[in-house]
Amino acid sequence: MADLNSLNKIRSELQIYNAKLVAVSKTKSEAEIHEVYNAGHKTFGENYVQELQYKQIHLPSDIEWHFIGHLQSNKVKYIAPFISLIQSVDTAGLLKEINNQAKKNNRIINCLLQVHIALEETKFGFSFDECESLLQSDELSLLNHISITGLMGMASFTQNQDQVRSEFKKLKKFYDKLSDKGNNLNILSMGMSSDYKIALEEGSNMIRIGSSIFGERYYKSKT
Ligand SMILES: *Cc1c(COP(=O)(O)O)cnc(C)c1O
Repeated sequence: MADLNSLNKIRSELQIYNAKLVAVSKTKSEAEIHEVYNAGHKTFGENYVQELQYKQIHLPSDIEWHFIGHLQSNKVKYIAPFISLIQSVDTAGLLKEINNQAKKNNRIINCLLQVHIALEETKFGFSFDECESLLQSDELSLLNHISITGLMGMASFTQNQDQVRSEFKKLKKFYDKLSDKGNNLNILSMGMSSDYKIALEEGSNMIRIGSSIFGERYYKSKT
């Protein structure tokens, strides 16, 4: 069962920040997603292509699906027809493939660049420098079927709130710098169940919440 009290509490907290909520429904059943959908929430995030494909077919067509996990280039084609935002673009090659598949589907796919801000080496994403050079590249200007609308970052998995805060702060500063340089960005996706309050205080305008809404996940790996 989804926790609708928690959903509503988070929604009200978000209002003063003018931020959006993505309900992260990976590993959760269609019935659980339906409960949240029936409470009036229509944006969901998923990490696994096959699971997302299945859910997209079986759940209401006005759901906005975000892809938030590591995406392999050879799987882009399965989600390209319907995905509304790919938050986890972590290589230029992936961006090119998204562009190819978007073109085949005669649409433009919105993307966020995932930026590596955590201490852990295992988290995917561009460095600040890589991100900046990609945004300035001629290569990017040729990709007419993607639109980079913002950045996504995940903080370190730690109890140290100062560390988490400083990582979010850095990403917000970078986001502002890119915006000042003329990049047309409007989404800064940062914050999960454990750290979204800090993320909002540091300037996030999109949070991705799984376990606080749907309860713990039971499966092999977290990403
Ligand atoms: C799973 C996941 C989330 C949600 O995590 P919770 O701790 O359950 O809120 C957010 N973002 C990404 C990229 C994820 O993989």
